[in-house]
Amino acid sequence: MGIRHLIFGISALVLSSCAEPVNKTSSVPEVRKDLGAQGQIIAKTLFGQKRTGTAAPAAAFGSYAKGCAAGLVQLPETGPTWQAMRLSRNRNWGHPDTVDFVKDLSRTAVRQGWAGLYVGDLSQPRGGPMLTGHRSHQIGLDADIWMNPAASMQLSANQRENISAISMRRANGAFVNSKWTRGHHEVLKAAASDPRVARIFVFPGAKVQMCKDAKGDRSWLRKIRPWWGHHYHFHVRLACPRGSSGCVDQNPPPAGDGCADAQQWVDNILNPPPPPKNPPKAKPRRELRLADLPNQCVGVLQSN
Ligand SMILES: [Zn+2]
Repeated sequence: MGIRHLIFGISALVLSSCAEPVNKTSSVPEVRKDLGAQGQIIAKTLFGQKRTGTAAPAAAFGSYAKGCAAGLVQLPETGPTWQAMRLSRNRNWGHPDTVDFVKDLSRTAVRQGWAGLYVGDLSQPRGGPMLTGHRSHQIGLDADIWMNPAASMQLSANQRENISAISMRRANGAFVNSKWTRGHHEVLKAAASDPRVARIFVFPGAKVQMCKDAKGDRSWLRKIRPWWGHHYHFHVRLACPRGSSGCVDQNPPPAGDGCADAQQWVDNILNPPPPPKNPPKAKPRRELRLADLPNQCVGVLQSN
């Protein structure tokens, strides 16, 4: 099966805009076998109920799409250069490094003439699977940043629920549209150049545009990863912070700037390959249960 078929086969399985790829082989710690019936509870119902974080030192347990976190802190709803959006979701919780990163990036946005950043979902108060919206964002190290060049740093709670994110794509993600600016390029470049960041997900047309516009050093492009969706926001994934032994990093992106692969993706959008004769059957995705998560997540749920 060719890569074009593979890509389109996978695309049929992807439903949510934030269903990022994760490692096939992960070294998540052994799951506990002694939980009994409790271990069979669907994990998102447990983590989705928690309204506050834990007081423990910050720690990520498991991987981006199968884990939880202790000691997460809230991105303040309002800062001089950022606004947390959709406050009713209570997903402005992150590892302190994530919160620091978002604040730093918001100052970069100001240098591009924006008022700051509109910040979408980070994680739930204790991370973990969510009732709606994402597969990842489970360990406090993922952040969705809206594409809107933010205009106001004094939004009401009501405005934060109702303002729409702005799409940057046309032709089904093959190209950026007229809303895309050099400021977007610079903000994404700054994010990708930050040593705390492991990768950034954005639609393929944006990656190809950045490949065309990049001058000089191109090494930062390696971290810009084309992915489905991600035209209303880009998604920043931080690497496991130093010393976080329970945290499972994703494999680094392939070597090189990734521009040829992104162009291939765009070509496939514009000129879709014929569907494979015997497409692989889409396996229904099994809901994560508490026993699927690392041992530490039981403690994260139980602690104050
Ligand atoms: Zn995301």
